[in-house]
Amino acid sequence: MVVINEEDNREKSLNFLEEIIEDSLAHGEKRVQTRFPPEPNGYLHIGHAKSICLNFGLAKKYGGQCNLRFDDTNPVKEDTEYVDSIKEDIQWLGFQWANEFYASDYFDQLYLWAVELIRKGKAYVDDQTQEQIRLNRGTVNQPGVESPWRNRTVEENLDLFERMKNGEFPDGSKVLRAKIDMSHPNMLFRDPIMYRIIHADHHRTGNRWCIYPMYDYAHGQCDSIERITHSICTLEFDVHRPLYDWFIQELGIYPSHQYEFARLNLTHTVMSKRKLLQLVQNEIVSGWDDPRMPTICALRRKGYTPASIRAFADKVGVAKRDNVIDLSLLEFCVREDLNKTAQRRMAVVRPLKVVITNYPEGKTEYFEAVNNPEDESAGKRSVPFSREIYIESTDFMETPPPKYYRLAPGAEVRLRYSYLICCEEVIKDSDGNVTELRCTYDPMSGNGSSSDGRRVKGVIHWVSVKDAKEAEVRFYSNLFLKEDPNDVEDGKTFLDYLNPESKVVSKVFVEPSLAESSIGDKFQFERVGYFCVDPDTTPEKIVFNRTVELKDSWAKKSK
Ligand code: ATP
Ligand code: MG
Repeated sequence: MVVINEEDNREKSLNFLEEIIEDSLAHGEKRVQTRFPPEPNGYLHIGHAKSICLNFGLAKKYGGQCNLRFDDTNPVKEDTEYVDSIKEDIQWLGFQWANEFYASDYFDQLYLWAVELIRKGKAYVDDQTQEQIRLNRGTVNQPGVESPWRNRTVEENLDLFERMKNGEFPDGSKVLRAKIDMSHPNMLFRDPIMYRIIHADHHRTGNRWCIYPMYDYAHGQCDSIERITHSICTLEFDVHRPLYDWFIQELGIYPSHQYEFARLNLTHTVMSKRKLLQLVQNEIVSGWDDPRMPTICALRRKGYTPASIRAFADKVGVAKRDNVIDLSLLEFCVREDLNKTAQRRMAVVRPLKVVITNYPEGKTEYFEAVNNPEDESAGKRSVPFSREIYIESTDFMETPPPKYYRLAPGAEVRLRYSYLICCEEVIKDSDGNVTELRCTYDPMSGNGSSSDGRRVKGVIHWVSVKDAKEAEVRFYSNLFLKEDPNDVEDGKTFLDYLNPESKVVSKVFVEPSLAESSIGDKFQFERVGYFCVDPDTTPEKIVFNRTVELKDSWAKKSK
């Protein structure tokens, strides 16, 4: 199911998480404490942005707090590079955490609690291999088989667990498991693993630990330590919730509660960090911030604004069932925001030279251009005009269809901010390709009028040949052709659905005022789209990324 915009069909009522929070506040809860718990094993993507907006947004709405907690329980995959990028991305989105915590801050406490569970006879050290444990877990229809080590004495378990911690055993040789029920209908309850041995350097605790807690054992207890009132996570964790509650109850600690919402999926996009890492490692993209990636740093580089991503998260709403959001909704949001905030400029993408035969040679005139019709405070700039200009080759047709209001032999158009010109002659090369147009201009038409009051319908953009700057533009489209690249046919992988034309680089001519722009500046190239100055820009060459297309009404109509 593709939901374009659920919100529009909905009354502006509370979402189900807001209902839960209001209900808990009405029943004695005094505060709202949420957390955003990323694992620092990759860069954040637009799905995480949804979760960030939700966790920080709910805390803000109800006068509470949101913590940032790095879920750093697997030293093999995690790195400070990711920690730094995650912090940068959250702040860029416009949120500030109340506290910065790390699951690794709680390793001592988690260890003590594990010892407590051993003492209560609720945990044991198992010597089975990972493979044996998996095979003995049973199936949904078949109970599991109890481990031969399940009935070790408390003393033996305490001794072995301590020696696990002290580094006496190699990776994979032992685990600590909760002792629950090997025939439990919820497979997660069949003696879940609490700790495994990993001899690896941790990005914060170095080599102090060689046993690391599993997600199910760590997450609820971390929430409890931080006295999280509403622990919000994605739907796939709903089967984990009873286990989350079980550990908290057995330990008799602060009862945090978990609530699930549907994760964000987008058409033509993969979101799993594992797949994104593959795109980076196979050099299919230039890095985590390649503008075709769904990561926050990539969207930033592409020209997305924090406000547009927040608006998107808001429009998507919170659902209880999985769905796929159309990528065009994200594009709609950035277009709406940039329409209000981006300055207008002229740039010609497929240049066709026009010589204005009755305009004096060597003369330059300057026309005033409004920077942003949506924002008076953006002011004006002047745009040079001369005898030779470039127009878009798609703005000329030799034999135009009816209602074509652009340039054609004998037809007249207005040059944006400037004169009316009329096409008198078409120059072609030996293959019959149009290489140049000869036009005349109406000298009385420079202020938006004409010599005799006549009006023309077409307005086209242009740049002065001798004043224009050459720039590089990178046009991006969907990285995947398939609507759901995660849905793979037999023998294929998601990489078989890549769009070979997801990045097209071309040379363009832009008006000279753009030479002054800085990295990250955003513009609307009139009639072309929204563009953002890329960090690859050098003093010699400006590089633009296309953020999003404008809607082309002509292309729509002529379909
Ligand atoms: P991935 O599957 O992409 O590796 P993850 O869930 O393992 O993502 P975490 O770093 O553990 O990544 O996620 C941090 C938080 O962001 C979690 O609470 C998770 O539920 C949430 N989150 C991750 N992906 C999405 C998504 N697509 N939509 C909404 N929330 C998400
Ligand atoms: Mg995760």
